[in-house]
Amino acid sequence: MPDLYQQFTTSFVGRQLAPRLGLPQPPILERYRPGQRTVEGAVLVGAAPGGRLVPQLAKVLKDAEAEVWTAEGELREAAGEAGLSPKIFSVNGDGSSAAGDQRFKALVFDATGISDAESLKALHAFFHPVARKLRPSGRVIVLGTPPEDLDGAARVAQRALEGFVRSTGKEFGKGSTSNLVYVGQGAEDQIESTLRFFLSPKSAFVSGQVTRIGKGGAVPAVDWEHPLKGKVALVTGASRGIGEAIAETLARDGAHVVGLDIEPLADDLNRVMERIGGSSLTFDVTEDDAPQKLVAQLKAEHGGVDVVVHNAGITRDKRLANMKPETWDQVIAVNLIAPERITAELLKQDALHRGGRIVGVSSIAGIAGNNGQTNYATSKAGVIGFVDALEDEIAAAGATINAVAPGFIETQMTAAIPIGIREAGRRLSSLGQGGQPVDVAETIAWFASAGSGGVNGNVVRVCGQGLIGA
Ligand code: NAP
Repeated sequence: MPDLYQQFTTSFVGRQLAPRLGLPQPPILERYRPGQRTVEGAVLVGAAPGGRLVPQLAKVLKDAEAEVWTAEGELREAAGEAGLSPKIFSVNGDGSSAAGDQRFKALVFDATGISDAESLKALHAFFHPVARKLRPSGRVIVLGTPPEDLDGAARVAQRALEGFVRSTGKEFGKGSTSNLVYVGQGAEDQIESTLRFFLSPKSAFVSGQVTRIGKGGAVPAVDWEHPLKGKVALVTGASRGIGEAIAETLARDGAHVVGLDIEPLADDLNRVMERIGGSSLTFDVTEDDAPQKLVAQLKAEHGGVDVVVHNAGITRDKRLANMKPETWDQVIAVNLIAPERITAELLKQDALHRGGRIVGVSSIAGIAGNNGQTNYATSKAGVIGFVDALEDEIAAAGATINAVAPGFIETQMTAAIPIGIREAGRRLSSLGQGGQPVDVAETIAWFASAGSGGVNGNVVRVCGQGLIGA
């Protein structure tokens, strides 16, 4: 749903006026429609010499029925082995292309072969001729090796990829996104769910992010239309806003959703759960016995749980000099202590199934800090610490833990912000607008997917590359 300013700049009058007045024209972003293919449009694939991901990349693109193009002979062979016959995109000496006006929906580059600063020029060689050939809501994906797994010049060069991706995210425009995925050695077979997410309109508001994929055990066969079929997902704070969108999206992906919210919101919660065929639980996550009550219910009614999304959150903004201790305590209790206690109880009672997924909801405020939000920012930075602290223990239990950090998302929470600050929050991002609750929900659905076993310990900002917190 475009905001008022976008409605103006995309109207007949606005389209004429905005460029003359030098006003920004935030694009309408494409979002996922059920049944849609992962990527609709041509995908150009390239690789630095020695890249190790091309065979896997070709396999994913074939399974996703993508229209694949490549510039290189060597890649053609690897693609051929995966059963793909890519179209050829050749660049003439003067930078022009025999493919003429061909435009691409996605540019995917395997940079794992980049081993020193000199060889970073492979990025320029691949992206320069196509820098103006990306279609609206296009995708740039660079694949690398986690720098911490390497030494010396290769480590330096792989770390350098972040700057490239964050810049293309700001430069290419027209609603495009640009992301870097570091794939650990031996985790090549884990890339499909992540590639599909970043290629698709599901990642409409995720840009400039760096994700790490590790070994996640055997990859199950995934029904990509319903990757959560047969799973039970708990979503706290599910009656409205981002929580409601998470519940809807996980249900769309096949999960039975157990929505939880406080008693005064029971009617709203029941309405949402009825709509998506889920079930409701009403209590306050900060009650002393909330974790025990919750786990007992999940075990009795569902035999445990597969996906847990700690979404319930509150703000109680005041400058620190004016903040009462109880205001501090309330925010830390809901946003941080409740997720910690509930997760501890789930693990203690062995109620999180193997292949389970825990997702925290942090915030850009937890990364950048915010005036008047010392309590909130502390709690949300704590959510990042919660992911760091638990990632090894959770992986050992055959599960994953990750967090999203939403930036400016259009909800009741942000509608209450004064208009000047609200407009700045919207426009100060590479995409020039606020995100929608569904953008956060889609990112959580990617973490939750049965195919995301290798995605562990990540904090992904859903912020349209917001400059606040950059
Ligand atoms: P929201 O509309 O206020 O929804 C949060 C839900 O959690 C509400 O239904 C809320 O009920 C419920 N809740 C609060 N305390 C609870 C408790 N003790 N036990 C059970 N449920 C409780 O907020 P939202 O904008 O959708 O935000 C959802 C999450 O995203 C939060 O964690 C928030 O911090 C985070 N986030 C949002 C944004 C944004 O731009 N909107 C940005 C960054 C992060 P009541 O509030 O009525 O008590």
